[in-house]
Amino acid sequence: MLSETGFVRKRVLVTGGAGFLGSHLCERLLADGHDVLCVDNYFTGAKDNIAPLFASANFEALRHDISTPLMAEVDEIYNLACPASPRHYQYDPVQTLKTSVLGAIHMLGIARRTGARAFQASTSEVYGDPDVHPQPEDYCGNVNPLGPRACYDEGKRCAETLFFDHRRKHGTSIKVVRIFNTYGPRMHPEDGRVVSNFITQALRGQDITLYGDGSQTRAFCYVSDMIEGFVRMMRTPDDVTGPVNLGNPHELTVRDLAERILALTGSRSKLVFAALPQDDPTQRCPDIGRAKALLDWQPTVELDEGLTRTIAYFDALLGGRRARLSVPATG
Ligand code: NAD
Ligand code: UDP
Repeated sequence: MLSETGFVRKRVLVTGGAGFLGSHLCERLLADGHDVLCVDNYFTGAKDNIAPLFASANFEALRHDISTPLMAEVDEIYNLACPASPRHYQYDPVQTLKTSVLGAIHMLGIARRTGARAFQASTSEVYGDPDVHPQPEDYCGNVNPLGPRACYDEGKRCAETLFFDHRRKHGTSIKVVRIFNTYGPRMHPEDGRVVSNFITQALRGQDITLYGDGSQTRAFCYVSDMIEGFVRMMRTPDDVTGPVNLGNPHELTVRDLAERILALTGSRSKLVFAALPQDDPTQRCPDIGRAKALLDWQPTVELDEGLTRTIAYFDALLGGRRARLSVPATG
């Protein structure tokens, strides 16, 4: 719909819209004036994440599993549905593969029939345990197809293949981004991911569990930066397909992260060591040259600022534990 100012209101389908990233994306799209249909089966997402959005007449939600067919008349599709943390995607690995592969087939089917533009939330996991560092988009990766992470990694790789085959065969308008570790409010408190684990452990005064010796590296992007990257990618001309890495190139060890969180929460939790999960990547950091060039995008939220906001979120969720910690924050 074209308004008097020339703004074009789009009908946008967001799969996984009740999840962590999806709910922030729905919120942003509504704020931009679009009409948003959230599709989610609430496996790891929550109605609480989207409850405030129902205040807008432009928001609707449908409980649906995208591994089964769906038809919708839309202009754009953001395909985010898929459990993202190792604990959740390994819970039912066959369903994880179905969600990635059949979900991509169904969303691309909608795109083909309606002419909608299709965006795929891919992942740094397509690079596996990388032997090129930092990872550029033309690196093909080092994935173990038989290991416990394969249901996620190979599912996402296959989804990318489907997107590019649809582009070649049917001319579908596609946008593929590879998301690196992202954190912020509305992460699932029990997802087992490093940021949520360390913050909830610190706030509860429990031991901080470092897997391995904590020397493996990651680079953490705050959620608002990631959503800005999504929206910029969707707006690019038709010939920009990606893949484009989105993530924060500030790399640190998992141990460094634990120490930042201890300082920012003022927690007296101790660091303890536990077994490193199989196929856990030893280092990961995005090369974001392509995102800078094509999207004029780079993260703006510093780690301490993003962690402070995320700690406040978890603190409220846990009922104000931080206020009861005996040592003042030093971060
Ligand atoms: P999340 O688990 O919070 O969100 C995923 C959402 O998808 C949930 O609401 C869940 O209920 C829904 N879902 C799962 N299977 C479904 C199905 N079959 N049908 C319909 N809905 C389904 O995870 P997130 O962190 O918000 O991740 C969103 C997307 O971004 C995922 O595709 C993930 O692979 C990708 N990603 C995230 C990160 C990150 O660091 N957060 C990194 C790389 C890639
Ligand atoms: N990790 C850890 N302790 C935890 C949770 C995770 O040391 O309590 C490590 C994990 O082994 C990995 C890194 O932190 O090396 C990031 O893990 P996460 O599951 O958040 O994301 P991914 O491995 O998918 O990047």
